[in-house]
Amino acid sequence: MMRAVDIIEKKKQNEVLNKDEIDFMVQGYTKDEIPDYQMSAFLMTIYFNGMNTDEIANLTESFVNSGDQVDLSGIEGIKVDKHSTGGVGDKISLIVIPLVAEAGIPVAKMSGRGLGHTGGTIDKLESIKGFKTELTNKEFIDNVNKHKMAIVGQTSNLTPADKKIYALRDVTATIDSIPLIASSIMSKKIASGADAIVLDVKVGSGAFMKTLDDAKKLAETMVNIGKSLNRDTIAVITNMDQPLGHEVGNANEVKEAIKVLSGKGSEDETEIALAIAGNMCVLGGTFKDYESAYKYLKDSIHTGKALDKFKELIRIQGGDERVVDNPELLPSAKNSYNLLASEDGYIEEIDAEAIGITAMLLGAGRRTKEDKIDYGAGITINKKIGNLVKKGDILCLLRTNLDEFNEAIDRIQGAFVISDKKPETKPYIYHIIK
Ligand code: URA
Repeated sequence: MMRAVDIIEKKKQNEVLNKDEIDFMVQGYTKDEIPDYQMSAFLMTIYFNGMNTDEIANLTESFVNSGDQVDLSGIEGIKVDKHSTGGVGDKISLIVIPLVAEAGIPVAKMSGRGLGHTGGTIDKLESIKGFKTELTNKEFIDNVNKHKMAIVGQTSNLTPADKKIYALRDVTATIDSIPLIASSIMSKKIASGADAIVLDVKVGSGAFMKTLDDAKKLAETMVNIGKSLNRDTIAVITNMDQPLGHEVGNANEVKEAIKVLSGKGSEDETEIALAIAGNMCVLGGTFKDYESAYKYLKDSIHTGKALDKFKELIRIQGGDERVVDNPELLPSAKNSYNLLASEDGYIEEIDAEAIGITAMLLGAGRRTKEDKIDYGAGITINKKIGNLVKKGDILCLLRTNLDEFNEAIDRIQGAFVISDKKPETKPYIYHIIK
């Protein structure tokens, strides 16, 4: 008979666990047969001793098997999903869904809501009046077959093991373990029915992964899980030293996504969106190589086809498509505050996490699952790293419908670091790992 204590001991001795042992721990914990204290010890042995490729693949598969799996077999073609490891102002999904669908590749997207300082794609889209993110299975599949795209909020019983273990990791200092992060993310993508996956692995001060080395390790680990479980996976490592683009919030992020799809977006977002979408198209199998996909996508932005596809997405999900031509129809906010530069110089750093937390304090995000979102709240970032500023220039603008928002005003102070030396320019995209 297997016992949790023996499996913990084996991993403590840095031995390799087999599939049955990993399953015993994961399924046992999910069914409340293994207590928190044993799972905590087990997670800590993984934290210190790591796992090899087979163990990580088995852990991922065990998470997948702990709950429901979405059956997308009713959708023709290769279903390519994308996932971001999380960033502030990250509206890349809003841009990529219509872009890839317009190129003829089915996008069956399941997304989450935001919690804490990072926003969720579902909340952003719900800032569009009428936009429905709860679809029946049939509506979801029919829309993807007919329009090549649909988006829904995540259903509750995907990877319950990951959900329970993630909550335990959060209080046992075992979040920042590459095998645990990689299996957690990949299990959710696989359970959502993806045939192939493009990962946007963020690195920098505003990301989970602070160093390029760690980001590469995480990316390689996830690509290897994909290989082991027969899902073609590509990871794009992108810069998250500062929020993406200029907008953080919900309605204002939709506005900015519209700009990118109109060819008027900022360079960082446009390039990252094209890289993610281009790799999705390669995995979708209809382009001969990345360069031809990239060219196609860029053209679709310039001809207006990508923007028309976004209008179509809004329409088929019941939203008010007029926002695309009249973004002022999106929710706004009545109160604002300008953060001003306290001296002359170059912007050396922007604390992306402080920006994310401030946006939440303004009402754009949730502190708890029950919180209501203020879709008009958010932050416009006027100055980015490397910009030259003069004392008194507006660094960023906070917007909210709250009448009292001193906590947000306090939180944003010091988020911009000004120096007299121009900082080095860093790339938007560091590596692509296949
Ligand atoms: N995101 C996840 O889904 N899981 C992790 O472990 C870390 C980030």
